[in-house]
Amino acid sequence: MKSNDELDALPCPVIVTDLNGLVIYVNQCALTTFAIATQADITQIEQLFPPAAAIFLQTHVWPMLRNEGLVKEFYLKVKRTLQPPLPVLLNIQKGLFQQQACYRWVILPAAQRASFEQELLSTRQQLQQLAKETESHRYILQAVLDGAQDVAIMAVSAVGIVRFVNRGAEMLLGTPSHHLINSTVMQFLTSERMCTYFQQVAIPQKSASPAAPPNDLISESFDTVIYRSDGQYIDVQLHIRQLDQTLLSEDMEFIILMTDIRQRKHYEKLQNDFIANISHELRTPLTAILGSLHLLNSGKLGDVPEKVKKLIDITEKNSNRLKYLITNILDFSKLKATKMSIELQTVFLQPLLKDAVAEHRYYLPDKKIQLELEMPEQPVNIVIDPQRFMQVMANLLSNAIKFSVPDSRVKIVATLEESCVVIAIEDQGPGITAEFLPYIFTQFSQQDSVSNRHYEGSGLGLAISKSLVELMGGAIGYRPGITSGAVFWFSVLRVHHTS
Ligand code: ADP
Repeated sequence: MKSNDELDALPCPVIVTDLNGLVIYVNQCALTTFAIATQADITQIEQLFPPAAAIFLQTHVWPMLRNEGLVKEFYLKVKRTLQPPLPVLLNIQKGLFQQQACYRWVILPAAQRASFEQELLSTRQQLQQLAKETESHRYILQAVLDGAQDVAIMAVSAVGIVRFVNRGAEMLLGTPSHHLINSTVMQFLTSERMCTYFQQVAIPQKSASPAAPPNDLISESFDTVIYRSDGQYIDVQLHIRQLDQTLLSEDMEFIILMTDIRQRKHYEKLQNDFIANISHELRTPLTAILGSLHLLNSGKLGDVPEKVKKLIDITEKNSNRLKYLITNILDFSKLKATKMSIELQTVFLQPLLKDAVAEHRYYLPDKKIQLELEMPEQPVNIVIDPQRFMQVMANLLSNAIKFSVPDSRVKIVATLEESCVVIAIEDQGPGITAEFLPYIFTQFSQQDSVSNRHYEGSGLGLAISKSLVELMGGAIGYRPGITSGAVFWFSVLRVHHTS
């Protein structure tokens, strides 16, 4: 049984009696509620009740209490001096008070009980209202997400189990939501990248840093192909983003957004075909112009005055620039349409490198750039398409020369590795800034392109070189020079000699 202080702290009237109804303790709330002046004013519990209630106690309450040690929820009235009797609700329980067996009489005024019930009722109503609002918010959210029919929205678990889909997802995948929910995303996201995403990226990242802060959440977007239930493959742009788990209670780890890009792909193809055709059409007359200029310059048609010769030189130089540009655009459109054919051959490395350097010596600008070539002495066989190899060399070398400061050197170093040869082109120019680094091999990218307009170019050379090197089975990259300048390197496969 509770101590006196604890009984006094209770917000309802409590009286403790011995097993015969002799009052042992009256708590503070009982004294005030029943207008009892002091504890001594009440010795027997029956004193508290009007005669009729006291008889009811004797006939019903006491026998029940003695039998069961418990009485629950009896409505009675309590006497009060100078006030009308107070309707109460009586609960009695057997227990111990100061190591003595006792009954604890909890005598709650009926009005208080009614207000408790009222409170309970209104809390329940509030909860119902809240549930209704939540349901209506859920409905609004679902309606909004379903309204975005052009975007497929999905929430998936860490291992790619679908937990939520909107109408857009049903339409894009051609599958009703009840078939999608609890299925795995691998069913329709067949791309290797997506499959490895959940196996190699998402799950390890999650287990490696379970408490990663929200700004470390995975977020990626790329173009891929999905498989529809009707057997069609569709080009889509896919965004995947890890959700902030602190805000979620369900097993939803990622949100996937997909948009149908078939139309965009179709226009890209049209555009690409147009560029390829127009470049081809431009190159044919240009080849003829260059041939004529070359013939004029050769002197085979007779001597030309010095003034005219100068003009022919300038025209030839500019025609060559134009040809280089058109060739780049043509190559780029072929690479984009995956129509570039590569013919791999086994050839010696050294003569090719010497030729590439010699070609550029001839074209060196007046900046006094020194070309140095370092390569292994023993003959090395490499597996490449010679024309494409020379094109990569030309792109990297012409960039190195173009961006070199006057009176500096450009070094070409070929190094043997286990299964490849790495060719590095090092210059002493400004190098690549950290901001531009992520874009160097991206199409049409030029560092600081507005202020750098004095360097001619299309921003395609490096993107083409990367594709060509990769088609030949190698890799391409950039690192800053030891003190300054740029180092562009690429690798090509080599053949081992068995001696
Ligand atoms: P471009 O035809 O414009 O040279 P590239 O794709 O070959 O196109 O090069 C893209 C951009 O990369 C260049 O415009 C330049 O800003 C930067 N770049 C390439 N090579 C070098 C280099 N050796 N030194 C400094 N910047 C370079």
